[in-house]
Amino acid sequence: MARRKDAVVAALVLLAGFALVAVAARDDAPGTPAGLRPGLAAAGLPEMRAARRRGAARHRSEARAVARVLRRRTVIRRGSRREREIALTFDDGPGPYTRAVVRALRRGGARATFFPVSSLFRRWPRALDAVRRAGFAVGDHTVDHPYLPGLSFRAQLRQLRGQARALRHHGFPRPRLMRPPYGGHDRRTRVIARRLGMLVVMWSVDSGDYTRPGRRAIVRNVLRGARPGAIVLMHDGGGPRAQTVAALPRIVRALRRRGYRLVTVPELLARRR
Ligand SMILES: [Zn+2]
Repeated sequence: MARRKDAVVAALVLLAGFALVAVAARDDAPGTPAGLRPGLAAAGLPEMRAARRRGAARHRSEARAVARVLRRRTVIRRGSRREREIALTFDDGPGPYTRAVVRALRRGGARATFFPVSSLFRRWPRALDAVRRAGFAVGDHTVDHPYLPGLSFRAQLRQLRGQARALRHHGFPRPRLMRPPYGGHDRRTRVIARRLGMLVVMWSVDSGDYTRPGRRAIVRNVLRGARPGAIVLMHDGGGPRAQTVAALPRIVRALRRRGYRLVTVPELLARRR
């Protein structure tokens, strides 16, 4: 009897071992972007591994959507007008307001796209972490935020490639989107973006939040321009952004009440016809 019990226990231990090996093998499967959420990789909890797999799968499908658009064009200002979807975008972080922006978005059930500047990464590591943990889309906004058309080809390449490297170094997937600082781009910028496999993302609605016109004006600017497929320019860095943080819950609520889903730019493009 004791021997049979031992055999059952041994079988169970073996089974558990096989299950663990199977899970580990799936996690190491090729195609899982290396460096994606290193914090989660270290944790062994099954739900964390599942979240990591979901993140990797989502990133692959978003990368496909961007690649499809890149076959036809280099610059976009909006997504499909047929879907009731809007993409909020946040430039110039990370900074002291980034975490409040992420919190407001998550509370409202909204997803968004961030275009941070890597020269600030060292100073605001927790803000950058919050963006990564939220699983939002992140694009290239250069290393130092220069006006690109004033720079040589090599200097522009350095700015864009340097930022892409910094993002990967900090556990983000390779950026597929780039937003030129001040919206300024020339032919060289577009050639470089294509070479690096990045889509230039402009906007169709300017929240005007960088002029600090007050919370109500920011809400009004966004709602006035809201259309299916809109891409909205906002800022989580580059100056005091308390007004942006204050406006955000109202913007999210009002847009959702009008039946809009708030998605990332790659999600917006995935539905593009
Ligand atoms: Zn900027």
